[in-house]
Parts: sequence; structure tokens; C-alpha cells
Amino acid sequence: MQDIECLGVYTSGGDAPGMNACLRAVVRTAVANDIEVMGIRRGYEGMIAGDFVEMERRSVSNILQSGGTILKSARSEAFRTEEGRQRAADNLRENSIDALVAIGGDGTFRGASKLCDEHGLGVVGCPGTIDNDLYGTDQTIGYDTALNTAIDNIDRIRDTADAHNRLFLVEVMGRDAGFIALNSGIGGGAELILIPETITEMSMVKERILSLMTAQRRSTIVVVAEGDELGGAQGIERALRDDEAFSDIELRSTILGHTQRGGAPTASDRVLASRLGVAAVESLMDGHSDVMVGVTNNEIKLTPLHNVYGRRKSIDYDLLKLTQILS
Ligand code: ATP
Repeated sequence: MQDIECLGVYTSGGDAPGMNACLRAVVRTAVANDIEVMGIRRGYEGMIAGDFVEMERRSVSNILQSGGTILKSARSEAFRTEEGRQRAADNLRENSIDALVAIGGDGTFRGASKLCDEHGLGVVGCPGTIDNDLYGTDQTIGYDTALNTAIDNIDRIRDTADAHNRLFLVEVMGRDAGFIALNSGIGGGAELILIPETITEMSMVKERILSLMTAQRRSTIVVVAEGDELGGAQGIERALRDDEAFSDIELRSTILGHTQRGGAPTASDRVLASRLGVAAVESLMDGHSDVMVGVTNNEIKLTPLHNVYGRRKSIDYDLLKLTQILS
């Protein structure tokens, strides 16, 4: 058993629905084990500025169901420097914080790992990002909510697309990963799905859309991840508008953008966030550090942080094949 005097907790990087539920679980697990808790506001920015707030059971009442993060999130350039991390570590020591739970994505974990290496602090990460792109967990906190938001919006677009026989290009989030695009595309019945993990020729996209539009003369939805190499919805729209073969096709683009980050977390995200928050504190108490807690095959699993940010989580290519059969 590891003695922890005071536990620091922070949310960092892109916010994700369910971060609050995770925070609640971290605080309550610590309190139940007589560990003091300090919330660190604005991620690494707040760590460097000493923006800390004492937390107890009631500090996290009534936040389980809310999106965003009550501790706020930020990106910090200063933390990328040794000086910045030294200031952060000094502030943590002054406040007797000897262990940390970091809720965020791979950048957050790179920073957390450096705190372990350079300053000997105990850190456990909880995967919080809508992108689901973290190795070591089947799903990240926030992904299921973002996915459902995307599907809900695709359904709405389908109604209007259908009414006018239109072609819609729907852009969903995912700069480097296509999890949201692939699964919202399948769940929303998209005719074509474009993701950063696969290289697609524009000529193939055009050919497929033309054959779909002429064959069925009704709505066609293309779901594209923002990081797809064809330039997202706008890049594809430009290419189609420049081509005479598309002059008779009514075409619209919708970028779902930050709607995917907000909103109440789904049941699945609330449960995942709660499990991971509890597991993070228990792992620290068991003496683990420099690891991320994840859920794989419904079991809690610890993965070294360097493996989390050093490896790429693969999409399921069989799912991609499904679209060709189903559309
Ligand atoms: P998301 O995946 O949702 O974008 P993230 O945690 O990956 O979340 P980032 O902006 O990449 O978000 O990282 C959050 C913060 O972590 C950065 O602003 C920076 O302060 C810190 N960080 C990222 N990479 C490093 C690094 N190599 N060294 C030190 N700190 C880092």
C-alpha cells in the first residue's frame, strides 16, 4: 500500500463529456480512503500558476450528468519546457500533493510521464477524449457521447436530404483518427465513409457518389472525418463543384464541429468514467505510477503511459467493409 498525503486531479487537453463523472469518482474514492484532494484548474496552465482548489465529497455533487469539466481544461505551451514543469512540480510540493490523476488525451499523458521521470511524482492517467484514439482501452471517456451526437445529427440531415434528393457531406471530428466517422457513418447509414486511416482517391469518391445518385435518385450522405486527406467536407465540396458531372446534383456540407464535444454524457460514458476514476485512485494506492487505467474486454487494465502515446490504436477495418455491403 502506498501512503498518499494529498492527491491532485486535473482535466487537460480537449474536453470530453464524462470528465466530470470521472472527477467525481476520483474525489469520492480518495475521500473514502482518507486522502486529501486538491483540484488543479485549467490543466497544466493551472499547475504552473498554482491555481489549486481544495475538494471534498460535496465539491462534486450534481456534476455526474453534466458535460464539460468543472475544473476547466487548457493547453499549455509553458508545460512543454523544463522550466515550466519545474514550476509546476514546486507548486505541487508546496501543497503537499504527492500523487496525481490526469484526465485527458495522449498529449496530457506525455506531460504526465515527464512529471514522473523528472520529479518522481506518482501519476495515473484516465483516458478522456472524444476521439477514442488511445491505445490501452476499448473506449475513451466522451467517445460514446460524441458518437451518439454525431448519429443524432446525421439522422436529422437524412430527413432533409431525403426530402430534396440532396447529397450531403457531413464532417465529424477526428484529426488523426476515424473512430467517430466510421461508427457514426455505420450507425447513420452513410453511403460513403472517409477516414484519415485510409487513402482514398478523389476519382473513386466521385465515381461512387455519381453511381449512387443516379441509381437511387434520393438522399446520399458521405461522412468524412475532419482529418481526412481529401480536406474534410469543404475540400470534397470544392472538388465536386469544380466538376461538371456534378452540376445537376444538389450538394450541401455540414460541419458538426464542437456540438460533438458538449452535452450530457451517455449512460455508457458515465459508467466508464466512474469505473476509471475509482480504478485510478486505487491503482495509485497500490503503488502504480506512470500508467493509464483503461477498460479492455470489460476488465480494468493498466498500460504504461509510454505505450499509450507511443502506439496507435487501430480502427476495425472489417467495419469499413460493412459500408460497401450496406449502402
Ligand atoms: P486531445 O486528444 O483531446 O487533444 P490531449 O491531452 O492530447 O487531448 P494536447 O493539447 O495534445 O491534448 O495536450 C495537452 C497538454 O499536454 C498540452 O497543452 C501540453 O501542455 C501538454 N503536453 C503535450 N505534449 C507534451 C510533451 N511532449 N511534453 C510535455 N507536455 C506536453
